[in-house]
Amino acid sequence: MLDISLVKDWQASAYASLEQALKSDHLPHAIVLISPGDVGEKELAEALADRLVCESPGEGLASCGKCSGCHLRSQGTHPDVYYVRPVGRMRAISPETMGEMMVNLQTKSLKGRAKVVIIEQAEALTRESANKFLKTLEEPSSKTYFILLTSRGERLLPTIKSRCQIIRLVPLSESAMRNVCKDELKLGEAETSFVVKLSRGRRAKALQLAHSLSEYKKDAADLLEIYGLRERALPAIREFSVQKYRAMREIRDAWELEITKAKKKLSDDLKDADPSVKKVELQKLEDAMVIENAEFLQDMRADCYELLTDIWRDIWIVKSGAASDSVLHAFLLPQLKRVADIYTEEEIIRNIDEINLVRGPAVFLTMQFDIVLQGLLSRHIAPAETRVFLRNAIKATGL
Ligand SMILES: [Zn+2]
Repeated sequence: MLDISLVKDWQASAYASLEQALKSDHLPHAIVLISPGDVGEKELAEALADRLVCESPGEGLASCGKCSGCHLRSQGTHPDVYYVRPVGRMRAISPETMGEMMVNLQTKSLKGRAKVVIIEQAEALTRESANKFLKTLEEPSSKTYFILLTSRGERLLPTIKSRCQIIRLVPLSESAMRNVCKDELKLGEAETSFVVKLSRGRRAKALQLAHSLSEYKKDAADLLEIYGLRERALPAIREFSVQKYRAMREIRDAWELEITKAKKKLSDDLKDADPSVKKVELQKLEDAMVIENAEFLQDMRADCYELLTDIWRDIWIVKSGAASDSVLHAFLLPQLKRVADIYTEEEIIRNIDEINLVRGPAVFLTMQFDIVLQGLLSRHIAPAETRVFLRNAIKATGL
């Protein structure tokens, strides 16, 4: 968890609006925090929950840290703060989960204080779950607060959105990102500049990039080589796509093993527990781990499409003769120039458009990542008249 004073700095406007609402006693019963990814949304939600269940809260979002409410919160066992998260391989918040939450809301709160529900990844609410939730959202009991978190605000159901106050968190400033890279991620100067540029204020992206910088750079270089080959790149495209897919499968398989191990350990730890309790706990652990892995793979797919966009963005910048310091992949400048020379401006723009069209929905496609990627890359290298040929060629490979 980040220090809340840091979050207050980063998200000054969101923080101030929550403070103001608390001060004037007009805190909305349902708030959505829309975040660009790991920029303090969890910490804000937690601080707000702390504040709402504290028996002698201070100014703004401050809680006393001493009362029994604060004590239970610090133990993570406060009965009036309830968490809703997606479960299962489909990463959905099911109607059953919402049902359980609503049953919990019917119990009396401790000392008559607030009840807080934190809904993580609220975009995972299914239509059915949302319907179940709507009535509660429309007529919340006086001391019940819902805090919804999402980094994919565009996927949150409109029926939910329209009943909540939306608070948008902002990407971090360049100087805040530099601090994250240097102090938190211990990156050197050159790496810091690169990561700050590529992550565009999204701390989550910076964390992820910092752990895979060399793979990222290799992928970027490989892609430029593919684009430089134009029509002759088909075998290389196939290899690139299949490799990416394999890497994801390996991660998934390794994760399955981790799940088995973790369940075995928990099972040993709970050997004297009641069998029904044990069963529930094991299922909870499995659900949480499956979700974590599904998110990781989803991020990997999103990163791959983002890399494609960023590469074409750079090619476009080089092509248009703009200052090269605005190029993201400056270490690949000679390759970028070479590729910019062999594509028309029209082709470059078309390729960027195509990726933008595909990347949103494709991130959620779990099965055919390699085929989608292969199709997309093939379209990038080929002018319109060879596309039919390429499509047939891909079909013939049986992939
Ligand atoms: Zn307190």
